[in-house]
Amino acid sequence: MNFELNDVQIAIQETFRKFVNEKVKPVAAEIDEKKEFPAKLFQEIGKLGFFGMRYPEEAGGTGTGITAYCLALVELARGSMSLAAPCMMQSLMGTYFLYRDGDEEVRKNFFEPALRGEKIGGICMTEPNAGSDLSGITTMTKVYDDHFLMNGQKTWATSAPYADFFSVFSRTDNHEKPAFFLVPADYEGVHVGKNIEKLGVRGSITSEVAFDDVKLPKNYILGEIGGGMRGLVEILAEIRIMTAALAIGAATAAFEDAVEYAKTRVQFGKPIGKFQLIKAKIADMSVMLETSKQMLYYTAWLSDNNKPRQKESAIVKLYASECANTICDEASRILASYGYASEYPIQRYWRDVRFTLFGGGTNEILKINIAREFGL
Ligand SMILES: Cc1cc2nc3c(=O)[nH]c(=O)nc-3n(C[C@H](O)[C@H](O)[C@H](O)COP(=O)(O)OP(=O)(O)OC[C@H]3O[C@@H](n4cnc5c(N)ncnc54)[C@H](O)[C@@H]3O)c2cc1C
Repeated sequence: MNFELNDVQIAIQETFRKFVNEKVKPVAAEIDEKKEFPAKLFQEIGKLGFFGMRYPEEAGGTGTGITAYCLALVELARGSMSLAAPCMMQSLMGTYFLYRDGDEEVRKNFFEPALRGEKIGGICMTEPNAGSDLSGITTMTKVYDDHFLMNGQKTWATSAPYADFFSVFSRTDNHEKPAFFLVPADYEGVHVGKNIEKLGVRGSITSEVAFDDVKLPKNYILGEIGGGMRGLVEILAEIRIMTAALAIGAATAAFEDAVEYAKTRVQFGKPIGKFQLIKAKIADMSVMLETSKQMLYYTAWLSDNNKPRQKESAIVKLYASECANTICDEASRILASYGYASEYPIQRYWRDVRFTLFGGGTNEILKINIAREFGL
């Protein structure tokens, strides 16, 4: 097997590493403290072509593939999860159904500006009573001859207060299975509700969204009536691979800080990194980080080469997110009280990375999915 990154992948990794070191790292704490969406950085990332990396050139993307995309996403998450998480949403779930099913008007007015970072697309699937079990959603869209009429309540919608449009998972009154609809955020009857205060990724705002008799034109159905779940399955593997990349990014930041601290913090007359117990922690963290990365690259390679990857993507998301949480926890222990102090970023990595345990599907559900691959 060839494990070498190609020139394009290396160039993309270096571009995003530089961008993160120069522009993201210096403001990451402020983004978290102010709980403010970093709109300007988001637009700059659009200009770097990030949102179009997984789409072909003829659709306005750059077609650089998932491996290159993951290298960039790891860097963004190393800088700020509050920035990386909404960027990931925009480039996959916020735009995929518009790319796949949007007509010319939808592509021109929503999809293409979103790829450039000029418009923001949110995804509304989760409801107060339907999280892992999306078959339990109650949002209902009535189908008329010349329009649709949507009513329902969504929650946890990333970027909702500043989104320009949403892809909404809804039942229809003429089919037992749900479908996806495009809903512009400025349409009458769309109400963005309260922001959900949360432990981590605090610069990425998540909110409730209500749809109250929202009238939609016929071309705003994304795919077929009843075809929503099938559409979701198409991108499930990528959602998981990308969530693994987010986890690895945060873990990399925590690991780098912990190594630096172990070299410079002196106790009992020597740097704490000279003590065997600290060395063992660093070695264990390094093993977890390295194995997660290799699994990520392998699974991204499967994706770029259109090979089956349902099981592998579930495994890498589960493994990388669990390892990343352990790495951030161990980094916090190496810094001890300073890892607990707000002025050091370790506490932020530790808070932010928890979201990867349930974002992209909870790890409990992933275990069920993995066991299913073995006929259980
Ligand atoms: C920061 C953040 C951003 C988000 N952004 C979005 C977004 O943009 N759009 C959107 O639609 N949603 C979003 N979500 C919601 C997220 O996708 C859901 O929270 C997630 O799917 C889990 O649903 P839940 O929290 O309702 O948990 P539940 O499904 O209620 O699960 C609760 C617990 O029960 C377990 N469980 C459930 N079913 C089973 C089973 N069959 N067997 C064993 N255990 C089970 C789960 O693993 C979990 O431990 C976001 C969430 C967060 C935290």
